[in-house]
Amino acid sequence: MFNKILIANRGEIAVRIIRACREMGISTVAVYSDIDKDSLHVQLADETICIGPAKARDSYLKMDRILSAAISTGADAIHPGFGFLSESPKFAELCMKCNIVFIGPSARVIERMGNKQEARNTMIKARVPVVPGTTNPVNSAEEGLKIAKEIGYPLIIKASSGGGGKGMRIVHSSDKFISSFKTASQEARNAFGDDSLYIEKYIQNARHIEVQILADNYGNTVHLGERDCSIQRRHQKLIEEAPAYGISEELRKEMGLTAIKAAQSISYNNAGTVEFILDKDNRYYFIEMNTRLQVEHGVTEMVTGIDIVKEQILIASGNKLKIKQEDISIKGHAIECRINAESPRNNFLPYPGQVTNLHMPGGCGVRIDSALYHSYRIPSTYDSLIAKVLVHDESREEAIKKMRGALGEIIIEGIETNVDFLYDIMNDTDYCKGRINTGFVESFLDEARLEKIC
Ligand code: ADP
Repeated sequence: MFNKILIANRGEIAVRIIRACREMGISTVAVYSDIDKDSLHVQLADETICIGPAKARDSYLKMDRILSAAISTGADAIHPGFGFLSESPKFAELCMKCNIVFIGPSARVIERMGNKQEARNTMIKARVPVVPGTTNPVNSAEEGLKIAKEIGYPLIIKASSGGGGKGMRIVHSSDKFISSFKTASQEARNAFGDDSLYIEKYIQNARHIEVQILADNYGNTVHLGERDCSIQRRHQKLIEEAPAYGISEELRKEMGLTAIKAAQSISYNNAGTVEFILDKDNRYYFIEMNTRLQVEHGVTEMVTGIDIVKEQILIASGNKLKIKQEDISIKGHAIECRINAESPRNNFLPYPGQVTNLHMPGGCGVRIDSALYHSYRIPSTYDSLIAKVLVHDESREEAIKKMRGALGEIIIEGIETNVDFLYDIMNDTDYCKGRINTGFVESFLDEARLEKIC
């Protein structure tokens, strides 16, 4: 087992990982940028090292500085969390070369799944159902237009190196294709330095269902059930739950086994998530694999009782999975709401600043994953996720009630947040009845706008 782990991340996820390490008797090293010197993760870690100025590319993305920090503090392993370097095959490779364990899958696996187009092709070979679409990068808008005719509208243009919803455009008709293709290409080039695009059929009124898997270094793979992450804004998840409402035991089992097949086909190791789109006829299609811890891992932990971060650490240190598939059962229902520092009144514009008053909820079945504290100044440099509120109860109905109570109790002053917006969703009839799909937030916002006008 490791003696010391360096956490190459910040915010609530760094705090989450530090807590797991503490429980396991592993000491921790926090790295931080100038602007994060007063952050909670810095205060909670056993050792701390400043790795540069605020901009992520000068600090949290600086591989050499993070590796030097690990070497100089004698860390045996690095946990990358999510975002930043968590999906960088180069970083995973460099860790290995420096004799430091990267807590995640091998560089080769990250690379194979990192290119979404290649991942699709790999899954086709493994006989995992994928959304109908292209198997080669589309070289020009004109070529794309021809392919689009074959696939049929609506379709979705995606960046091969994509993530975070960037470089993605839904196209409903041929007259919009060329301009959408060009914007997607531009966006992909700016965000990822790679403008290669591919095209998929756009599945309307679909749900985003993903399966959590754990795989050790000896070929043992289990799945921990699914999460429904259909409540999204601009392709970014906002509310997640486990299990997915209305999914039959049979479908759950089938999707779980498909996720295991997908993982085993690439000799996947450590924790990972296989993402699917589920259409209204309950047909499911692979969209991508995330080769890291997910933001929403907590809902799975609540319904399975399995600590995914601890399992990641155990697997990375060479332990065999102790959990067998037949030991995993889903108990009750869990929901997560992502609290962002943003202004819903102002088109959800980020709203960083100093927290002048803070009260977070608690009680049976309520979990808060956050790096906030009273008087903390939220920097504008990083993403706007500031806390996650998770609840667990015996049914979805009870969990929704608990979430309403928890959100209603929150006080965060000094900044704007989306807490009231999330509270309104928890009171929405369609949401409560489980009538959800990836278009939910958009229609919810349209209705809210309509109410304002009327
Ligand atoms: P990213 O890696 O940028 O997050 P994904 O491929 O995971 O992109 O897609 C993000 C979201 O976009 C999905 O959760 C889903 O809501 C929507 N989406 C992606 N592909 C499709 C598709 N083929 N049909 C319908 N919706 C899709």
